[in-house]
This record gives sequence, C-alpha cells and structure tokens, in this order.
Amino acid sequence: MKSYITHLECSATGKVYPADEVHNLSEVGKPLLVKYDLDKMKSDLTRENWCVESAPGFWRYQALLPVSRNESRISLGEVLTPLVPLKKSAALLGGIEGNIIVKDEGRLPTGSFKARGLCLAVSMAHQLGLRHLAIPTNGNAGAALAAYAKHAGMKATVFCPDDTPLINVQEIQLQGADTYLVNGLINDCGKIVLAGKEETGWFDVSTLKEPYRIEGKKTMGFELAEQLDWKMPDAIFYPTGGGTGLIGMWKAFAELKTLGWLTGKLPKMIAIQSSGCAPIVKAFNEGLDHAPLWEDAYTVASGIRVPIAIGDFLILQAIRQSNGCALAVDDEQIMETRDLIAKQDGLLLCPEGAATAAGYQAAIEKNIISPGDQVILFNCATGLKYPMPPATKSIDKNAAIDYQQFI
Ligand SMILES: *Cc1c(COP(=O)(O)O)cnc(C)c1O
Repeated sequence: MKSYITHLECSATGKVYPADEVHNLSEVGKPLLVKYDLDKMKSDLTRENWCVESAPGFWRYQALLPVSRNESRISLGEVLTPLVPLKKSAALLGGIEGNIIVKDEGRLPTGSFKARGLCLAVSMAHQLGLRHLAIPTNGNAGAALAAYAKHAGMKATVFCPDDTPLINVQEIQLQGADTYLVNGLINDCGKIVLAGKEETGWFDVSTLKEPYRIEGKKTMGFELAEQLDWKMPDAIFYPTGGGTGLIGMWKAFAELKTLGWLTGKLPKMIAIQSSGCAPIVKAFNEGLDHAPLWEDAYTVASGIRVPIAIGDFLILQAIRQSNGCALAVDDEQIMETRDLIAKQDGLLLCPEGAATAAGYQAAIEKNIISPGDQVILFNCATGLKYPMPPATKSIDKNAAIDYQQFI
C-alpha cells in the first residue's frame, strides 16, 4: 500500500522540509515530525480496510508510515505484541484484576520495542541510500540497530556507556555492529556520534535526532487502538527515557482523531522514571517546558537512564495535554515489583516495565487514578536480558530424597 506521507515539519517552528531528503534535526536544532495527507487518506480508506493484513506486525500500518518503496520495508518478522492482564498481582498493586493490562513489547525482534523505531529508521535509511549508521545506546537501541542494519546490508557503529549490561553489549557485537564502550553516559556517547559525523560520513540515528524512529514507536498507539476495539484506556504508564514512545503514541492518537476513526477521551499519559534519573518528573513538577540535565544519573532500569532528552518539551506537552503526570519510583521498588509480578503471575517484566507497575501503585496511592480505571503498562523489553536472583536449592541424586519438601 502507498504511504500518505507529504512532508516533514519542525516540532518547534512548524517550518516545512521535503520528505525525500536525508534529515537530522531542523535548522533550529529541534526534532522533525512526519506529516501525512490525512484528508486524502480519509476519503480513500476506512478504519476497517486501512491495514495490510498480510504484512508482518506494525507494517500493517504502512499507509501512516513514511516508507514508500516496498523493497525498503526491512523486516525481521515483527509481531503485534499481546495485551496480558495482571492477575493476582493486580490487587497487590492496589488495583482490580482485569483492569491492569501489560503490553508486552518483549516479543518483538531483538527482544525490545526499540525494534519498532530502528526498523523504521533503517528502512528509511535504505530508501534514502545511506550506507553507515551510528548510535549512542543504553543497550536495546543498539541491538535493534545492529540487527536491522545488518539485515538491510548496512554498516552500524554503536557506542554504549561502559556499564551497559554485558548481555546487551554482546548481542550488539554479535549482530554485526562495530561496538565500543565509552567511559560516560548515553549523552556522552551521543556527543561522540555527533562530532564524528563529518569525518566518518555516518548517519546519526540518535533518538529524535532523525525523524523516523518516532514513526516506528507510534505504531504502539495504532496497535492499542485496534486491540482495544478503538476504546482508549483511562491511562497509559510509560517508562520514559528519551520519550520517543510517549511522543509517538500521542502523535498516533492525534492522527487517528483527525481521521475521525478514534473518538472519545484519550488516555492520561503517565511518564514513569527512576528517582535516580528523573529529569522529566522534576520539570513536570516545576511547571517547566524543558528538562535540564540530571546530574549523576543512576538506575538499574538502564533503558530509562537518560539524563537529558532532546524531545523533553514534546514529552511534557503530551503529558500536560493528556491531563497526565510524571512520577518517579525507587530502584528498590522497581526490583521488588518485578519479582512480585514474576512470582505471582508468571510474567517476567524488564526493570523498566516493572517501573510502570510500581508507578501504577504510586498513582493509586496519590489518587491520580482509581482502581476502577483501565490502564496499560508498557513492558518494553524481555525480562530475560536482565540479571535475576540466584536459584540455590539442589538435590543429591545419590541420597534418600525427602519428598515431603515438595508438597
Ligand atoms: C529505550 C527504553 C525505554 C525508554 O524508551 P523511550 O521511548 O526512549 O523513552 C524504556 N524501556 C526500555 C526497556 C528501553 O529499552
């Protein structure tokens, strides 16, 4: 199916940029957003027939994605990610069974939702004829870039903080990217990518510094609309680092509203951060439009250890427009909540996903939402990539076994 893309627009000034050229940020250093001919689309298609049923996962939404050449739609077998309601743990978090639903993004290629954004960024890079892509990453974005770039026949160079979980660093390298550890945080890695642009000729695919990762992430909003039969939940809890997914979903809802396909109230967008790195929470509470650099950022939830976000004003706008808020939770709460949900319900979340569940509990306690509200928690990666508590019990096969212990 054809793409209804028309042009790009600066998110700060609205200045128009052509769609078929290579872009990073706008002239004023702000993210560029993709625009579509929604009027034309509305007259051509309906809510019932706009999806390409035979396409893998989010590629079903290709009318509202920027790629126009079929051979540039790179795929590693994307899937529509399932909605899994919490059972026993729902009440333990202060809610009601059936009302707390996890969107489990860990089922995507490379085990995280970074696949959505990087699949689109690599596909557009392919369409525009780019050959070499570079990225700063806390792990999952680098893995997704490595996999999709190799699949598309491109070179990838990846810079990670030197305390990035080893499994992430190794999966990035094994999937063919030239991989480097940097003695700094993700924003330091980002500076290296930016500074090397002229000399290496690589294209910078940092979050929101190119226009297409957000288009991939927005498909979470389309999926939710379809899966919930076009009735939005009361709130969405999103573990917020660079904020691409939160901004992306808000953009998706706006597009569906303009098409007239989504009616009624939109969800409160609730950004969850760790108290060790909470620049958006601080800016939200202080009523600021931008979030200054968070010093000495630390959290076990490495995917949300982002001390400064270029799309900060877009995150804050989406939260405020949706009547949502931003909440911080401690690392200790995050890990306790991960363990609780795994043990009670058999659902292994990543720490970032567990942070949204801890954030839910905090929102209930603060009366921001009520137990009767239907909420979506985003589990953005498979829990299998993160350290787990040791298993210590053993059996001696040569000794008499006391079977009473198993009852
Ligand atoms: C990147 C990442 C996030 C944060 O996503 P943004 O859209 O960049 O805010 C959350 N959780 C995990 C597991 C991630 O990899």
